[in-house]
This record gives sequence, C-alpha cells and structure tokens, in this order.
Amino acid sequence: MSLTARFSCLSDYDPDALSVEQARAFIRSQLTPVRTQERVALRSALGRVLASDVIAPFNVPAHDNSAMDGYALRQADLAGSGETRLRVIGTALAGKGFAGAVGTAECVRIMTGALPPAGCDTVVIQEVVELDGDQVIVPAGQRAGQHIRLAGEDLAAGKPALAAGRLIRPAELGLMASLGCAEVSVYRRLRVAFFSTGDELCSIGTPLADGEVYDSNRYTIFGMLTRLGCEVLDLGVVRDDPATLEAAFRDAAAAADVVITSGGVSVGEADFVKPLMAKLGEVLFWKIAMKPGRPMAFGRLGSRGGGEGGDGGEGGDRHAAWLFGLPGNPVAVMAAFYQFVRDALQLLMGADPLPGVPLLPAVSRVAMKKAPGRTEFQRGILSHAEGQWSVRPAGAQGSGVLRSMSDANCFIVLEHERGSVAVGDTVQVQLFDGLV
Ligand code: AMP
Ligand code: MG
Repeated sequence: MSLTARFSCLSDYDPDALSVEQARAFIRSQLTPVRTQERVALRSALGRVLASDVIAPFNVPAHDNSAMDGYALRQADLAGSGETRLRVIGTALAGKGFAGAVGTAECVRIMTGALPPAGCDTVVIQEVVELDGDQVIVPAGQRAGQHIRLAGEDLAAGKPALAAGRLIRPAELGLMASLGCAEVSVYRRLRVAFFSTGDELCSIGTPLADGEVYDSNRYTIFGMLTRLGCEVLDLGVVRDDPATLEAAFRDAAAAADVVITSGGVSVGEADFVKPLMAKLGEVLFWKIAMKPGRPMAFGRLGSRGGGEGGDGGEGGDRHAAWLFGLPGNPVAVMAAFYQFVRDALQLLMGADPLPGVPLLPAVSRVAMKKAPGRTEFQRGILSHAEGQWSVRPAGAQGSGVLRSMSDANCFIVLEHERGSVAVGDTVQVQLFDGLV
C-alpha cells in the first residue's frame, strides 16, 4: 500500500491539523531499521547501536572477592554474642591473594577486590575492628557472607549482558571491555544528506548581498546529525528553481538513507514543491498543530516514478530515501528536528528501545499566553533556586530567533489541550543536555 493510502486510512488524521503525537506515531509506524552490520573496534562503537546480543563468556566478577578493605575470616569462628579475638596471619591484595590456610581463630587482612583465602566466607570492615598487636577484636553482629561480592553477581556466564538495539554509551563500552570484547557488531551508520532551499540564502565565506541572509540551517542540521552519529552529506544551498531542486532531490535520494531539507514547505512555496515531489516519490505535506514548526513534509523519495532504481535498501524493494522537509525558520528547523526527526533517525539506526527524552515538571516563573489546540515548544531556561526547579522563556520566542535556542537549556512543552500558564503553574520541560 502506498504511503498516501496508509495515511488516508487513518480517519482521524487531518493533514492540515495533525497533532504532534499523531505525526510522530505515523512517522514511526512507517520506518524500518537498517539491518546491515559491521564489526568495529570497541572504542569506535561509542554512539553506535549494538547489532547482536553480547553474551557474557564468563562470570563477572570471575571469582568471589572482597567489596571492602578489612579482614577476611570464617564466620564459624565468631562468638554468637560479644566480641571475638582473631590472629592476623597475612594479607590478601587485589591480584595477589593469600596462599596459606586460615585456621581456627585466625584471619587475613584483605583489600577491596582481593580473593578471600580458602575457607574465609565473611569480611569485616577495618573501621569496626580494634587492633591489638597481631590480633584484631571483632565486635558482635557480623552477618555471614557480608562484604563479599560473589562470582557471577554482575553478569552470569552464558547470559546476555547487552541486547541488540542498545545505544552504546560510555557504560556499555566499559561493560563490554569487562567481558574482554575487543570488537563488537554494530549496525552501519545512517547516511543523511541535507540541503537548504531559498533564493535569499548565502553561504558563509561569501559577502552578503542586499536582501540575503546567511544559511544557518545547514549548520544546526550538521550539528544535530553529527551528535546523533550519522554520516552527513552537505549538499549546500539550492535555489528555488524547479530544475535545480529536482536535481538536488535526486542526488540526495540516490546517495543517502534520509534526506533533510529546510525551507520550501510553507504555504505558497509548497505549491511548487508539491508537483516536484509527486514526480520524485511520495511525500505528504502536513500542517502540524505545533509552534514553531508547523509546516512539514514527510515521505519517500525514489520509491516510484523517479527512476532512482538501485540496490534495494533495507525494508524496500528498491533504493528509496526518507524525506523530512523541514520549515525554513531556524528555530522551527530545530524544534521539528528534535520532535520528529531525532526519534525517526534513532529508529532507523536500529535503536530499540528508543532512548526518548523525558518530560519533567518545573514551576513557571512567568505567565505565558497559549491557546488550546496546538503544542508549543518554547525555549526555556531552567534554573534551581530555593530548593526548586523553575523555568522562564529564553527571550524573544519568534521562530526566526535562533538566539532563543542558544540561550535556552530546555524546551518548555505546552501541551496540545493546554491554555495559558499562570505564574507558579507547573509546566513540562525537556532538557537539551543529558549527563551521559
Ligand atoms: P521558508 O520556510 O523557506 O519560507 O523560510 C522561512 C524563513 O526562514 C525565511 O525568513 C527564510 O529567510 C528563513 N530561512 C530559510 N532557510 C534558511 C536557512 N537555511 N538559514 C537561515 N534562515 C533561513
Ligand atoms: Mg524559502
């Protein structure tokens, strides 16, 4: 079934008033992840998606070991109540154990990570014992087995340590290193081509002529794609001319999995882009009930009519690229990218589950006007004072004011049904930066 037909089947989906959730859900429902895998050295896997489960080849930890610095002893030697005197007969260090036998009323000084000597089943931390010559006095109340990390406690041999689909962050790198993985299987990187459209755009490095503006969208898009770990293909500025645009779309679709454009989808401009798209593939033009980022095109290029034939990419019978036609306004580009494209690219990259971005409550420090019936993504500054997180808009909220994105550290997400916000109301925020 064609994309248009699948979209038309959704009875409550109106292309001129699509909610953010509906648009997101439809996009997700159409995409199929890449399946091609490659083996890369462990360090190169950072930011990539794991293509097969990582099975622990051995127990982690491989042996029982001490979780603390203290004394290893035999629980049976401890008095039921009251303190116990034990003679210290040696030391067990991490990587250099105590080889001798521990007899009745004896113990061994032990360091974190060291293997408990044969027969010792309990560690008493050094802070609670009293030293008396070559003896220690252990207080009552020690629990059998305490402070010993058991073999296989973190990961059991033969069990999956990480599942395919996992986005590889620093913790996963470390975890795989702890299993001795020098190479890992990851999905191939996603190739994303992008260009800007507009007769008024000038590329940096060239003096501005009258009425021109520098093309900034290609730089924000470059940055957002690079952060997501995509292979990027910058196709420059393309003039608002049907033949030039057609050539650019064909080149982009032939070279990439995904094509991202900015500009040309607003009312008026879309009128001449639409017939072009009909020739090159199947593209839906939407007016999403959101601010900023209202007009957006989503579809597939080269899937029919365009003669782009090819090697048959994943999930399709011939090469086709997904298209995200974003609005031209610089803030709208970023809002639409983060609300729709990011998710879509992560899905295509094979991430499962999708990492998602949480919505967190914060108290609004200002009143904000809002009419129900659309989702607004205001640029906000979240700050902490007097024990609470509160948020205020980051200056002028026009969709062309890129400074608001730069000054902000979060989106203030004003939900579809919500009306105006009063000072002190709780609103939802989406942080720009995460810790990991
Ligand atoms: P459009 O959606 O093409 O009508 O563009 C809307 C607004 O965004 C206009 O003011 C454009 O000049 C501006 N704009 C479009 N593309 C870019 C770009 N690549 N960089 C900076 N501003 C842009
Ligand atoms: Mg334009």
